[in-house]
Amino acid sequence: MQDTLRWRHRFAELGSRFYTELPSEPLPDPHWVVVSPGCAALLGWPADWWHSPAALAAFSGGALWPGMRPLASVYSGHQFGVWAGQLGDGRALLLGEVEAPGGPLEVQLKGSGLTPYSRMGDGRAVLRSSIREFLCSEAMHALGIPTTRALCVTASALPVRRETIETAAVATRVAPSFLRFGHFEHFTHTARDVAALRALADAAIGQHFPELAGIAGEAERIAALLEEVARRTARLMAQWQNVGFCHGVMNTDNMSLLGLTIDYGPFGFMDAFDPGHVCNHTDEQGRYAYARQPSVAFWNLHALAHALLPLLAGQAGTGDGVPQEVPQDVQQMALGAIEPYKEVFADAMLGGLRAKLGFAEAREGDRELCDGLLRLMAADHTDFTITFRRLASFSSEPGAGNSAGNESVRDLFIDRAAFDAWAARYGERLRAEGRADAERAAAMQRVNPKFVLRNHLAETAIRRAREGDFSEVQRLHTLLEHPFDEQPGNEADAGFPPDWAAQLEVSCSS
Ligand code: AMP
Ligand code: MG
Repeated sequence: MQDTLRWRHRFAELGSRFYTELPSEPLPDPHWVVVSPGCAALLGWPADWWHSPAALAAFSGGALWPGMRPLASVYSGHQFGVWAGQLGDGRALLLGEVEAPGGPLEVQLKGSGLTPYSRMGDGRAVLRSSIREFLCSEAMHALGIPTTRALCVTASALPVRRETIETAAVATRVAPSFLRFGHFEHFTHTARDVAALRALADAAIGQHFPELAGIAGEAERIAALLEEVARRTARLMAQWQNVGFCHGVMNTDNMSLLGLTIDYGPFGFMDAFDPGHVCNHTDEQGRYAYARQPSVAFWNLHALAHALLPLLAGQAGTGDGVPQEVPQDVQQMALGAIEPYKEVFADAMLGGLRAKLGFAEAREGDRELCDGLLRLMAADHTDFTITFRRLASFSSEPGAGNSAGNESVRDLFIDRAAFDAWAARYGERLRAEGRADAERAAAMQRVNPKFVLRNHLAETAIRRAREGDFSEVQRLHTLLEHPFDEQPGNEADAGFPPDWAAQLEVSCSS
């Protein structure tokens, strides 16, 4: 198959300021861990694409298929709110773009060895984090949340030092583009190269936002790009919040220009609802706590806007750096471009919550009703996923307070009186809309997943994988492809986390 693929290299064509071309470091004696048929189909590859030694070699960094051209891209970024200077693909290699049925898709190895941007790192990824990234990217896609995809994971016995000694793996990721906010920050603040910044923005617009390419003035075109990125990011944040997803490391170098979920590290789906939940053990300040994600994304958009100021100001790309002074009106234009974030986020969030509560129409007071439930959930730390899933069976009949369906939600709360007061208002709101309960329940089950990648599920699969048994990884992958389906027989995967799950710690080290 690899001989008939057509590869493109539009990122490489930008020129060497943007990357370093280099080969991968092979995983010694590699083996397969898991492949995603869905992602292969997206690429237009047959289901058996991986049935060859050449495929195993290519996706463990040991060989190139014809047409692959590996490179590590350079970017910079703000980490935990602080300017971190130059970063870059420290352990990732872009192999090129595949001409897929739906358009070109970039294919990237992660964990394929040292690059000029590895800094203190070893260029490797461990089996644990590669499995987590694989499972979560494919699960997010199945939840309908924009994300980079994962094609496969290969692994090896090669030891890798983290907090303990682990083993190496390579995850292959797929996306229309892996461009990050940090790529733009790099050319403004680190390389101070307006011509490169301009070339990058033009390429991004031409390839990924073609509807903006026709806007005549450069400032207007760049402002439109910023606004579109702000809108996409806003919708993404609403989707994360509404499924209880915490990213864990929302640094500007982990923010996708396309509004995709990218760079799965110490992420987590919340079990017990806690707005202050911090999934990343390394994040001692709680900067990236669940409830802060939407405002952090806006902060990150400010960083992107700041990076694009030279283009909004029409500065010439002479190559002698970025002039310091940017006129007030240009700064206002940048702020104006990201301003819609607030409204788009609020609308998407409320729209998502309405769907989660089973409201087909928008009505006065919905926000208060949604917030009321979230407050009760937070006070009693009810399980985020289970609460919304059970709410589908809520009976809107007057006086149905003690029905089995309502009891199953009510049971989740400690403060029953508070729940009953809320449930009375909820029932009233449902009756006002007059939709049949069964129809509402079905709609709710299409937006409130039964199955999410809880930490303990991933952990169990990882423990087995370390013993050489990948069946649990594969089973979870298949399970999470249909997160909204009942899937009888898999009840345990939809249940409360076991006690030991509370002890699981996920950190930046991956
Ligand atoms: P992250 O916050 O995990 O997305 O990574 C931040 C930066 O560190 C990026 O430039 C990564 O490429 C780099 N990095 C993380 N882990 C490693 C590693 N093990 N080896 C080399 N570079 C790494
Ligand atoms: Mg990263």
